[in-house]
Amino acid sequence: MLIFEKSRPGRGALLIPECEVPVTLPEDKDLRQTSLHLPEMTEGELSRHYTELAKKSHGVNDGFYPLGSCTMKYNPKVDEDMAALPGFTQIHPLQPEHTVQGCLEVLQTAEKLLCEITGMDHMTFQPAAGAHGEFVGLLLIKAYHTHRGDTKRTKILVPDSAHGTNPASAAMAGYSVVSIPSGADGCVDLEKLRAAAGDDVAGLMLTNPNTVGLFDKNILEITSIVHECGGLCYYDGANLNAVMGTVRPGDMGFDVIHLNLHKTFSTPHGGGGPGSGPVGCKSCLSEFLPSCLVEGEEKKTFVKPEHSIGEIKEFYGNFLVVVRALTYILTLGREGIPEASQNAVLNANYMMNKLKDLYTMAYDEVCMHEFVMSLSDLKKATGVSAMDIAKGLLDNGIHPPTMYFPLVVGEALMVEPTETESKETLDEAVAVFRELYERAQTDAESLHQAPVTTPVTRLDEVGAARHPVLRYVFES
Ligand SMILES: *Cc1c(COP(=O)(O)O)cnc(C)c1O
Repeated sequence: MLIFEKSRPGRGALLIPECEVPVTLPEDKDLRQTSLHLPEMTEGELSRHYTELAKKSHGVNDGFYPLGSCTMKYNPKVDEDMAALPGFTQIHPLQPEHTVQGCLEVLQTAEKLLCEITGMDHMTFQPAAGAHGEFVGLLLIKAYHTHRGDTKRTKILVPDSAHGTNPASAAMAGYSVVSIPSGADGCVDLEKLRAAAGDDVAGLMLTNPNTVGLFDKNILEITSIVHECGGLCYYDGANLNAVMGTVRPGDMGFDVIHLNLHKTFSTPHGGGGPGSGPVGCKSCLSEFLPSCLVEGEEKKTFVKPEHSIGEIKEFYGNFLVVVRALTYILTLGREGIPEASQNAVLNANYMMNKLKDLYTMAYDEVCMHEFVMSLSDLKKATGVSAMDIAKGLLDNGIHPPTMYFPLVVGEALMVEPTETESKETLDEAVAVFRELYERAQTDAESLHQAPVTTPVTRLDEVGAARHPVLRYVFES
């Protein structure tokens, strides 16, 4: 039941203190003419309503959440404590710089540490999400070529194992997208890449580890092919959880990278943000970065680089997400950062190896932080699809893996356990996966019916896609 349906006229919770200053209303023409649809209920009912909703949803605090490519790991509470400090929350973005030197130091230190982790020279925190960061990175590449008077470069090369946002961002930045096929080993086909590389190529966007969970073994060759034709290399670092502290994209020949602080660096996500997709770059691109870089030691100040592409978000990006990331990095330290990645990779390989006698792995190799299974054979033999297995997991208190992605794998389930899960949790999940596989052979029908224990049971997915209800219609 929606909060609006629980509303009763005249009920209310007085939460807003009385105004202490004279009230000035806008002019009549600017005042809204109809009353706002606000639910009216008591504080107690309100509290119950949201508790009820919270119980209906599934988060990392409820149970295992192996949603591939999303890194749904546990976010330490100390990071929340730091982000909640009044010195960070009670400030205004237009405050004079000398009154918020500590906040500038947070940005400066975070930039320094994340540049060290990625092997880049500078970083902007303005982008609000990963895809936003990709867009910014491409604008930097574009500015670089344009600034040199090199205007013939209209193409961005995107391997077919890239995250779906990569081609979308390239198109948004005004480039035409050339898809580069993967070989049978799941890595970029070097011959196809060589054939596509030319003086009309602005750059390449590589998701690494790619969407099938593999670290491209030819990565140095890939970046040198692109550089030889005069293009720049973009690293989609949303999956940095697999490699942080172990290898640095900057050392592999990449010129620009985005990170997803809300995946790798400890900000809860799912349900819509706020996120942060900082973009790091080599010094050849620094002069084009968006404004609000921090400079200075004793007296820190915001600067706008000389040929800046301008602002791509208001002010300094989602600052509190950066506070969480900095806390996370400082608490883990030089030893903890690579250890987190190594455990993420270990957990994924552990699970993969405990399942691969039953489930077909899309690539039977050592994986990085996630692995992809193809349920095509299972579906052919039993009629049970990736969707059915995903729904069966829900009845066991497990959030499904990413489904039907990447597109290059039929009936795909993409599992990312993350480093914050214990061996016991992984073993339980493995047992559930195995039980569902057995059930597919003997009682497929029960899996077509799943889930049966969740607040909402099997949805009409086609109906939802064809006739989406996007707006609540008020009765009056
Ligand atoms: C999640 C993800 C993105 C997009 O990040 P958003 O914050 O959702 O925009 C891009 N690339 C990869 C590899 C990702 O996993």
